[in-house]
Amino acid sequence: MKPSETITGELEEIRTAVPGPRSRELTPALRSFESRNVTFVDRDFPIFWESASGANVVDVDGNRYIDLTGAFGVANTGHSNPYVAAAIHDQAVRLMHGMGDVHPTEVKVQLLETLARITPGDLGKTFLASTGAEAVEAALKTAMLATGKFAFAAYRGAYHGLSLGTLAVSGIEKFRAPFAEFVPQQTLFLDYPAPLETVNGELSARSDIAALIVEPVQGRGGCIVPPAGYLKGLREICDSLGILLIFDEIYTGFGRTGTLFACEQDGVVPDIMCIGKAMANGFPISATIARPSIMDVWPESPGEALHTSTYLGNPMACAAALANLGEIERMQLPQRAKHLGVALGARLDALRADGKVKGARGRGLMWGVEFPDAKTAERIVKDALKAGVILLQAGPQGNVISITPPLVITERQLFRAIDIMSACIK
Ligand code: PLP
Repeated sequence: MKPSETITGELEEIRTAVPGPRSRELTPALRSFESRNVTFVDRDFPIFWESASGANVVDVDGNRYIDLTGAFGVANTGHSNPYVAAAIHDQAVRLMHGMGDVHPTEVKVQLLETLARITPGDLGKTFLASTGAEAVEAALKTAMLATGKFAFAAYRGAYHGLSLGTLAVSGIEKFRAPFAEFVPQQTLFLDYPAPLETVNGELSARSDIAALIVEPVQGRGGCIVPPAGYLKGLREICDSLGILLIFDEIYTGFGRTGTLFACEQDGVVPDIMCIGKAMANGFPISATIARPSIMDVWPESPGEALHTSTYLGNPMACAAALANLGEIERMQLPQRAKHLGVALGARLDALRADGKVKGARGRGLMWGVEFPDAKTAERIVKDALKAGVILLQAGPQGNVISITPPLVITERQLFRAIDIMSACIK
């Protein structure tokens, strides 16, 4: 039996205007009490989510949507996955919060052991945290301690978070610009994916680079897939120059691209890997996992950790992550993403025929459809929402629509949603 046959899913059902009356009622309060920078509000946006299951989202007006975003590539095992929810509940009633870096929990040890087992090669020692940005910051700090160097190489279009530390390696200029005076300027930025000879030349010309940080598929930068063998080439260059290699698998991890981690497809092991997003299917947890020899550059704790946070190893997050990993394995979600991705790629490729789509690229269930401009992409996102499909704009210019559904999406849901998107394009 194919894994898809064990999964049921509903199609869209729109009962009101979108956004519906209750969403419209809630919007002014949001505007009054939340920083106006957070949520984009206009005539067509946003809808307020009320509940979700599998690849379906229901809004406060009772409209049901097919979600092609996975809520930022997070809900890989399906929204509100019941096994993950039960694990959080069981843990919450026993021990909701512990003392991350003082008195640990057994569930944290179980998660750390599991991460060492499932991540590639000899990656095996971990810092846990809550957000992706924190995981990247821990990776940058680790690379600094390991090399005694304080500059980084990163890619244009890269997204590694918006904390002040991660802005140093952010390749999307609009996020850096307002804070540029405070952001380190010595980062070497490369085009994604610059030819390996260029990377080698640029890195060779610098002696101050601690590490090169790279997304195996560039996600928010517009879902850009490097050529086969690219990551292997980066590994060789970094090894020859004594530069550490950091893979940011926060978006690509946990089955999204057709293997548990995207770097497995190139057979490459980084020195440090960052994971987050889909790790616990929506419960906030992230991790920085390194080769033991690299992680051990950190001094043993003398009673005060140099790097920690209040929620490090939160027991509910660890329990959720363990249950979620069980679900990924039980439903064979990497294989499922690979299988569905082949058919999805063919459908998206066919959209090019009428000239309104510039191209589509992706791997597994991580695809980007490129339009001539951001206005067109925005219109399609809004029209699709009214028709019952949730989509997200991506790319530094906003002219890409990313498709990163829950990996449990059924074939029927996926292709129905693509049909609706195609109708909106036309
Ligand atoms: N790295 C990558 C590749 C991401 O896609 C993201 C978020 O989209 C981050 C890091 C930052 O994660 P967070 O928003 O949890 O801080």
